[in-house]
Amino acid sequence: MEISLREYLSSGKVLFADGATGTMLMAAGLPPGQAPEIWNVEQPEKILSLHRAYLDAGSQIILTNTFGGSRIKLDKAGIGERVVELNRAAAGLARQAAGARAYVAGDIGPSGELMAPMGPLTYEKAFEAFAEQAAALAEGGVDAIWVETMTDLEEARAAVNAALQVSDLPVFCSLSFGKRGRTMMGVSARQAAQTLWPLGLAAIGANCGEGLDMIPEVLAQMREVAPEAPLIVKPNAGLPKLVAGATVYDLTPQDFAARMSEFVLQGARVIGSCCGSSPDFIRELRQRIAA
Ligand SMILES: [Zn+2]
Repeated sequence: MEISLREYLSSGKVLFADGATGTMLMAAGLPPGQAPEIWNVEQPEKILSLHRAYLDAGSQIILTNTFGGSRIKLDKAGIGERVVELNRAAAGLARQAAGARAYVAGDIGPSGELMAPMGPLTYEKAFEAFAEQAAALAEGGVDAIWVETMTDLEEARAAVNAALQVSDLPVFCSLSFGKRGRTMMGVSARQAAQTLWPLGLAAIGANCGEGLDMIPEVLAQMREVAPEAPLIVKPNAGLPKLVAGATVYDLTPQDFAARMSEFVLQGARVIGSCCGSSPDFIRELRQRIAA
C-alpha cells in the first residue's frame, strides 16, 4: 500500500479486512483438534493460498494464522515451546502473500484460560504471554497487531498493553458480543471502549459473536465513548445451525454485504467477516461498498 496504515485509517476511508481463517482451514483438511498454527510450518502452501484467496477477493488487510498462537494456548497442544517459530512463520507467510499490495495484521486471540479470580490466569501472566507473541509477530514483519474475539476485559487489556509495549505498530482490538450486546463475560461495548480505547488503540470494535443484530448498538456505544475511533465490524456469517451434522451459517454473501453496508453508514470503517465466511463474502463487500 502506498500509505501507512495509520494514514489510511485517518483518511476516513473504509478498510477491507479478510474473512474466516479457522473454518476455512478445517474445510481445507485441518484435522479436528489440531492447532491451526502448526500449518504455518507444515502446510505453508495452504496458508499462502488462503491469504491469496482473500487478497484476490479484495482484502486490504489480512490476519496472520496465529489466533491461538500464544504460549498459553499452544501449551494445550503440547507445542508451547514453538511459539516464536510459529508466529514468525505466520507473519512471514502473510507478508509474502500480501507483498506491498495489502497490510498484514498479526492476529492475537484469547488464551483460552479464565482470568483470576474465576480461573488461573493473572494479568501479569497474560501480559507476558501476549508480549511474547506480539514481539514474534512484529519480528516477522506485520504492519499491525490485531487483538480479536476477546470476551474478558482484563485479558483484552493485557493483550493490548503487551502489543503496545513490544512494538510501535498500530494495535487493533475487537471483542466478541452476544445477542444482547454483551460479551460472554458480561462486558458491554461501552465498557470495552472506555477501558481499551484510551490505552492507545488505532481501531476498536466487534468481531465474531452471535449474529449481526447487536452491531448497531455496539457501534453506537463505542461511538459515544470514542467519537474519533475507527470502528471495526467483522462478524460471523450470521448464526450457526446444524444441517445434516455439519455447522453452517445462515447468511449468504449477498445478505451479509447488505447488512454490512448499513453498518458502514453508521460509522464502521474496518470491515470484514468471521466464522463461516469465505472470500466470496469479501468480494461481495467490495462490490457493494465504496472504499
Ligand atoms: Zn468468528
